[in-house]
Amino acid sequence: MRASGESGEPRQPIGGRARIQLPMKIAIVGTGISGLVAAHRLHPEHEIVVYEAADRLGGHTNTVRVNTGAESLAIDTGFIVFNDRNYPNFEALLEQIGVASQPSHMGFSVSDGKGVFEYSGTPRGIFARRSHLVSPSFLGMLREWRRFNREARALIGINGTAPSLGHWLEQRGFSQRFIERLIVPQASAVWSADPEQMWSFPASFMAEFFENHGMFSLRDRPAWRTVAGGSASYVEAISAPWRERVRLSAPVRRIERHADGVRIEADGCESEEFDEVVIATHSDQALALLGDPSQAEREILGAIPYQPNEAVLHTDASLMPRRRAAWASWNFHLAEGPSRGSTVTYWMNKLQNLDAERQYFVTLNRGEEIDPAKTIRRIEYSHPMFTAAGVAAQARHHEISGFDRTHYCGAYWGWGFHEDGVVSAIRACARITPGASPVLPPSRDVSELTGAIGPESSDTPEALAA
Ligand SMILES: Cc1cc2nc3c(=O)[nH]c(=O)nc-3n(C[C@H](O)[C@H](O)[C@H](O)COP(=O)(O)OP(=O)(O)OC[C@H]3O[C@@H](n4cnc5c(N)ncnc54)[C@H](O)[C@@H]3O)c2cc1C
Repeated sequence: MRASGESGEPRQPIGGRARIQLPMKIAIVGTGISGLVAAHRLHPEHEIVVYEAADRLGGHTNTVRVNTGAESLAIDTGFIVFNDRNYPNFEALLEQIGVASQPSHMGFSVSDGKGVFEYSGTPRGIFARRSHLVSPSFLGMLREWRRFNREARALIGINGTAPSLGHWLEQRGFSQRFIERLIVPQASAVWSADPEQMWSFPASFMAEFFENHGMFSLRDRPAWRTVAGGSASYVEAISAPWRERVRLSAPVRRIERHADGVRIEADGCESEEFDEVVIATHSDQALALLGDPSQAEREILGAIPYQPNEAVLHTDASLMPRRRAAWASWNFHLAEGPSRGSTVTYWMNKLQNLDAERQYFVTLNRGEEIDPAKTIRRIEYSHPMFTAAGVAAQARHHEISGFDRTHYCGAYWGWGFHEDGVVSAIRACARITPGASPVLPPSRDVSELTGAIGPESSDTPEALAA
């Protein structure tokens, strides 16, 4: 298939023999996991220049160094965990660059912040509030979890025709309690998505992710891990061989494609000509950079918007469930009033096995409730908002990537997680350097997706309701 420009002019695909010239001069825009992997794979054969808007490498891989006098800790505020099943290409990368990982503890809780309603997925945590033991509505909610796990499997593989998550749950007669206090919190936490957005979230997209990550089953769940010493350790290792090719604090403002090359204009840099460009920013950022986006680029990149999420690294334990038995690695907060996005607190000591005197947390979208005296860092992130139109757009990646000297990668081409970023970069680079080592199985095609995160294995509500 050939993409066409606004003028209707056919776009020139790369990949035919005539176009491959080694070495080439290639610009890489963005240094999240996707841009890092692109640079890692392309630098041995090509002349690369890596542009990064921020003053550091890593994008969502963002480890904050906390020095208190008593302790010096490396705490992850963005990318934290991966697992031994769904991240084969990321694991292979860590091995290749000699970066170690360590076991993590995954678990999930839901609380209202007042102690009136709270539970976590452990045997102690599920009935942390003793009255849940005799609450018909709470026990009914747990039974519905079992029914959900059985019935939602039917959604797998019917992306185009599946209803939204909200409609499907309503059609199947799931209770408001189950929707608002169990399944929406879980999905909202996994994708850092606004609970209200879950109404239009593609149901099959979620079902495939749950199936892939063993979240429908009590047994056979993946084991979760973190990067030893904080995730920034891998950023340092992967970039060491091409560090001098990086331009930090150099946001690209415009990408101009023309017959003989690609011109990149970036703040603080001379405008420069390249043979090819790999765009590893978010989809909305990518579209905004293009001087002459084709109709296909407008449609595809425009179909996967991002939403902002504020993350705060802090030590304020008042954002955790009231009862310590209900604390988990991931703690979803049931917000009152208008939705403020996904409200989750990650318990970093538990996730990263921190050897620390204090408890450290990263909270999304509840910044105003955190004691300023206990606040360490505030960071703005943004996450892809997946819809049926976005999932359909992902399947059209081949219509725009590899055309007009332009290659797209980013976690948004998959489920939005680290493995997706790696896989997307490997695929983009394969168009530039055919014959490079391929994506490792069991990763699936970008139109099929790969990704992360679920609750603890043997202790889900389903087990306890059985
Ligand atoms: C709080 C949080 C927790 C998460 N936890 C996990 C987790 O535990 N496990 C997991 O697998 N995933 C997690 N994720 C998902 C994470 O988003 C992906 O795993 C992945 O890191 C995204 O990588 P990326 O390369 O697509 O984008 P990013 O990491 O966002 O990188 C994009 C880069 O492009 C740069 N850029 C943008 N515009 C320009 C420009 N004009 N010029 C130059 N540079 C530009 C940005 O500065 C940035 O560095 C988490 C995300 C967040 C925010």
